[in-house]
Amino acid sequence: MLTGSFRLFPKHDLPVLVINIVIPRSVISNISGLFQVIRIVMKYPFDLATVLNRIAQTMAVYPRAAMFELYERGYTSLFEQLIACIISIRTLDETTIPVAEQLFSLARTPDTIAKLAPAHLERIISRSTFAEQKSHTILTIARIAEERYHGKLPDDFAQLTALRGVGPKCANLALGIVSGKAAISVDVHVHRVVNRWGLVHTRQPEQTLIQLEQIIPENRWIDINRLLMPFGKHICTGRLPQCSVCPVLEYCRQVGVTEHR
Ligand code: SF4
Repeated sequence: MLTGSFRLFPKHDLPVLVINIVIPRSVISNISGLFQVIRIVMKYPFDLATVLNRIAQTMAVYPRAAMFELYERGYTSLFEQLIACIISIRTLDETTIPVAEQLFSLARTPDTIAKLAPAHLERIISRSTFAEQKSHTILTIARIAEERYHGKLPDDFAQLTALRGVGPKCANLALGIVSGKAAISVDVHVHRVVNRWGLVHTRQPEQTLIQLEQIIPENRWIDINRLLMPFGKHICTGRLPQCSVCPVLEYCRQVGVTEHR
C-alpha cells in the first residue's frame, strides 16, 4: 500500500491542511480505485497546554518513565535518582528499574555504595549497557558525595554536572524529580518529539534543551520529562510513529515523518 501526504504550511502559526491519500497497489492501474481513502486533518497553531493535557490523558495507561517509577517506589533521594539515571543510559526502562532496585536493595547510600568492590558493582548492574564504565562512574560519585558533601549531593546543576559521567540530561532529570527544581531533561525521545512537532529545529539534544528553555514556561518543564519520554517510546516512536492514533495530530507538523502507522 502506498501512502501519499500533501501538506500546506502557509505560515507556522496558521492552521495547516493535511490530506493523506492511501492508494492500494492493486488499484494503481484502476483509476476508479485511486482515492479509496482520503483523510483530511486540520492543523492548528501549537497549543502547549492542550498538547500536554492530551498526552497526559493518553499516557495514563502506559508505564511511567523509569526514574519517575523509581521515585514512586520510594527511591527519592537525589543520589538514588542520579545513580538510577547513570544505569539508565542507553538501557531500556524494563532493565533499568530491576537493576536499580537490585543495587539499592544491597546499597542505596553514598557510604554503602562506596564500599562495594568495582567488580561486585559491575556484576550487579551487568544487565545495563557499559556496566564496567558505569560501575566506575557510580563509585566515583558515591565517594565524592561521601567525602565532599557528607553523604548528601547538592541540588545544584553546576555541581552535579561537574561530577565525572553526569551530563545535563541526568542532572536535570534528577533535580526536577527530587527537588522540584524547574529543569528540562532532553533524551532521544524528547528531542525527536519536539522536532517532529515543529516546536524546535535542532540536530542535537543539547541544542533542543537550550531552545525548549526559551519556549516552554518553567512550570511545565518537569511535564516535558514526565510525559514525552513515554510518549516518544510508545506513540511517537522513532520508526513508524503512530500518527493515526496520536492525540496531538492536529497540533503536530510531523516534520520529517515520511511513513507512519
Ligand atoms: S502526529 Fe505523529 S509525529 Fe506528530 S507527535 Fe503524533 S505520533 Fe508523533
